[in-house]
Amino acid sequence: MSARERIKQFFQENVGRVVTTGEIAKIAGINDYQRRIRELRNEFGMKIRSNVDRADLKPGEYLLESLDLDPAIERSISLQLRNFILERNGFTCTICGASAHDYDDLDPTKKVRLHIDHIIPLSQGGTNDVENLRILCSNCNQGRANVTTLSETSVNILARLRKSSRMVRMEVFEALKKEFETKS
Ligand SMILES: [Zn+2]
Repeated sequence: MSARERIKQFFQENVGRVVTTGEIAKIAGINDYQRRIRELRNEFGMKIRSNVDRADLKPGEYLLESLDLDPAIERSISLQLRNFILERNGFTCTICGASAHDYDDLDPTKKVRLHIDHIIPLSQGGTNDVENLRILCSNCNQGRANVTTLSETSVNILARLRKSSRMVRMEVFEALKKEFETKS
């Protein structure tokens, strides 16, 4: 059994109990056990939490919260790929144009959270290819946002425009100019 498998089994046997790096190091028998923990969390989606995630844990303590796994969306995409997609899409939601700096339409006390979304879900044969990935805010991701009403704020429209090509922006500019010149 690999070190990672031993650590995985140890966490599963101790679900809901705080375990220490000392215990894990002993079970793993390797120095690089922290990397294995990261793999179990980021690639396998195990709900392993540390003091970074939870205030009630001290440094060197870990807790497997439950045997459920985190959603495949988050765990199957490497940090590198995630950053690539975020940069490609200008750190804005593909549907409503919300950016990470905006406040959440449905909860103005919070900032928008962006997720990487599979256009064709993995469960339906979608892949992690860049063409199949896009950014959605949590509202659009969960289908909670009423796209037609919530998205059409000037902030969101401007965010979408910033992502558009120069040609599209010129067309919008010309259309608006025509409209307002005629009116005035
Ligand atoms: Zn959105």
